[in-house]
Amino acid sequence: MHWADKAAEELLKRGGEQVIETGTSISGVPHIGNAGDVIRGDAIRKALLDMGIKSKFLWIADDSDPFRKIPKGMEKLKDYLGYPVKDIPDPEGCHENFVSHFSLPFISDLAEFGVTPEVLSAAELYRRNEFYNEIKIALENRHKIIEILNKFRREPLPGSFIPWSPVCECCGKISTAKSIAYDGKDTIAYVCEHTEVSGGKVDGCGHEGESDIKKGLGKLPWRAEWAMRWAHFRVTCEPLGKEHASAGGSFWTSKLVCKEVFGWEPPMPVIYEFFTLNGEKISSSKGNVITLNDWLKLSEPEVLKAFMYKVLKKQRDINLEKVSNMNDEYDEFEAVYFGLKEGDEKLKRLYELSQVAQPKKLQVPFTMCAVLSQIPNLSIKEITRRLNNLEYGDFDEERLKKRLKLANNWVMNYGPDFLRFKLLEDTSGITLSDLQKKGLFILAGELMKNLTPKELHIKIYEVARTLDLKPPELFDAIYLSLIGKLKGPRAGYFLIALDRDFVVERFKNF
Ligand SMILES: [Zn+2]
Ligand SMILES: [Zn+2]
Repeated sequence: MHWADKAAEELLKRGGEQVIETGTSISGVPHIGNAGDVIRGDAIRKALLDMGIKSKFLWIADDSDPFRKIPKGMEKLKDYLGYPVKDIPDPEGCHENFVSHFSLPFISDLAEFGVTPEVLSAAELYRRNEFYNEIKIALENRHKIIEILNKFRREPLPGSFIPWSPVCECCGKISTAKSIAYDGKDTIAYVCEHTEVSGGKVDGCGHEGESDIKKGLGKLPWRAEWAMRWAHFRVTCEPLGKEHASAGGSFWTSKLVCKEVFGWEPPMPVIYEFFTLNGEKISSSKGNVITLNDWLKLSEPEVLKAFMYKVLKKQRDINLEKVSNMNDEYDEFEAVYFGLKEGDEKLKRLYELSQVAQPKKLQVPFTMCAVLSQIPNLSIKEITRRLNNLEYGDFDEERLKKRLKLANNWVMNYGPDFLRFKLLEDTSGITLSDLQKKGLFILAGELMKNLTPKELHIKIYEVARTLDLKPPELFDAIYLSLIGKLKGPRAGYFLIALDRDFVVERFKNF
């Protein structure tokens, strides 16, 4: 059974209305790792729907949090350290604020992946006073909250701790305002003091004021806030990254707060492993980031979804030079789905869950598309004809067009060197040995025989042997005469993908 179907089954055992919550902290460009949370949550929504259960699917921007670190390249925002993320201006001035600047494109990219959650803003929810009842409960039960939080803390919180971080009404910062007294009703006294966040020192303004929780200018500490949100939205399922679920991770604290303070049965966690990008941790501050939008320029959304849906608890690497391999893996699932290949039911289901619209067969390798896309003046009709020669018949032409464009973008920007080529117009600078020329001449004859790429590949070895030529020398001759390089796309496929008359002419007359 696929993990999403298993999760859906577990949720049905729990019963009641199903609510899946996902969320993203807005500390810079939301990347593919952030998207993984939402895209995985959507698989569970889909699995429930396939069982006939309509669920609520939420995405919450964690924008009431303080701005703790300046993302790479946004140094001009350095004065906003310590402010609620919601109150930071758009660094480029094109949206209402910082949060919109990053979350609106993220949400519209998610829609390209067929993922359309109900979009909420934590800061707006606070400021609309939606959480009033829960905040009151948290304040009244603060001793219980302290007790629970302290179970997981090395440095215990003092008994006087008040679980409310106000926004200072004088300077507008949230990191600096420290609650000092609660009047038992709606008011919390605070003082605005110097503090430090991960991105540096933040100056407090010294103001002593009162925070009215009805105005919602402030927030609960994260572990209490998460629990509060679950209770408020009656969340039954929460996908979460492994670090929240490790020993002492926030999930365990929030789970207890949810149950013991808010009286709501905590959601079922769906724990997943992170991706790495090109072998390293995805990190906005280090600039090792790829967004959904970047992905959409390189490959179909379904390919990334299938990659995310394949396994939940194994760290996988997205290597941009190997996007072709991810496509090959996806094509395998597709072959199983369309019954072209034997395979596990699970792979079929994986393919089905990854679809954005009605599935359409393609089965033309991504690398082949990368090769075809580099041949100048090639009409889609001619490409289709050549692909039929290559035994890739019966495919969806729209998908082919799309993949050609994506594969071209990939190969030009991220693909391995040997896959990039330009057909030589003038070969006067290329010298070949007589035996190499002879080899090409014989190959020209073989090209007229309508061989398959594999047969042609074997033929190249045969020709080399009959001439007493080392096979690599003949491969060198093939690539040098056509593209002036020693390496190129796999020869059998490459020769057949090219215009036959052109290759025959070139090989005969070299
Ligand atoms: Zn903007
Ligand atoms: Zn202040």
